Amino acid sequence: MTRRLPVYLLLDVSESMAGPPLRAVDEGVRLMLRALKKNPYALETLHMSVITFAARAEVALPLTELLSVVPPKLAVRPGTAMGAALTLCRELISRDVKKSLPGDKGDYRPLVFILTDGAPTDDWRGPAADLKRIVPRPGVIALGCGEDVELETLSRIAETTVSLADVTPEGMEILFSWVSASLAVSSQAAGAGECDGSPAVSLEKSPLREGLTLVKFGEAPPRSSRPRLFLHRVCQRTGGLYVAVYRSVAGTGRYLASGTHPLPEDFLQDGAAPADPVDVSLLAGPETCPYCGNMGIFYCDECRTSYCFDVKDSSGTCYCRGCGKTYMLGDGNESFDVPGSSG
Ligand SMILES: [Zn+2]
Ligand SMILES: [Zn+2]
Repeated sequence: MTRRLPVYLLLDVSESMAGPPLRAVDEGVRLMLRALKKNPYALETLHMSVITFAARAEVALPLTELLSVVPPKLAVRPGTAMGAALTLCRELISRDVKKSLPGDKGDYRPLVFILTDGAPTDDWRGPAADLKRIVPRPGVIALGCGEDVELETLSRIAETTVSLADVTPEGMEILFSWVSASLAVSSQAAGAGECDGSPAVSLEKSPLREGLTLVKFGEAPPRSSRPRLFLHRVCQRTGGLYVAVYRSVAGTGRYLASGTHPLPEDFLQDGAAPADPVDVSLLAGPETCPYCGNMGIFYCDECRTSYCFDVKDSSGTCYCRGCGKTYMLGDGNESFDVPGSSG
């Protein structure tokens, strides 16, 4: 029986990942698997499990030998329950990984990779400490993506934190090719019997490529308090759900529209994340509905839902799909709070 090298991949699928970022992660995972499946050492030892986290954490792929790993389908959900993901990961490790016993070396110590582009929305301190207790250092590696990631928090959760500044398909490819190179080095060390316990990911043997930076504990740059806002909308014409992303304009307290992305129909199946209200007078457009191209927004104070509407509609009426209430254009208060989240 060969000793297995168990690898746990924790992937953030919160709403901030909606659209191109999630497609880039999906593609990154595929590229990584393709590269690793060509590596005889990795094929021999590596087993992989994938956990996704948003409002809650889920096992997207139970621990599976590399050759049989099929990339799981990723779908966005509200919230960033990183604490729940760390707890689930610890439970899986306790259940799946064979401990070494006298006369039986068991499995290698697991490696855990956490990929996120935001900040946890649940308590992560206890779960992080519990996980570290069973995954000896430096087995936990954080992959922080984009400029809104809370690197300070990640540097407390993981022994090694690597950050990727731009969440582009090219950037994600670089990040996952580093992960796959690290795993190739680790599985080779394991296969060659160079290590007894954990074939730790070593930056000397798998140096970072351009675009990636190592974040040292205590040296993480500060993150602005609410760098992005995520507002849920419903298309008045199609009923489709989408998210409007707003980016804060430094030093002004205001937010500028930076894009809209369709959300899956079952996006809210786990319930909405706790919302922080935002004053709409601080938001500046333009914002376009990804389903119908409408450029107006109206808010039903009955349902607490915002909809797209057609600014060119001469009747000037907006109809709420939820409660049937009709609003006249210009009825609206200029400054009111709508539910928003920080993803
Ligand atoms: Zn629409
Ligand atoms: Zn309504």
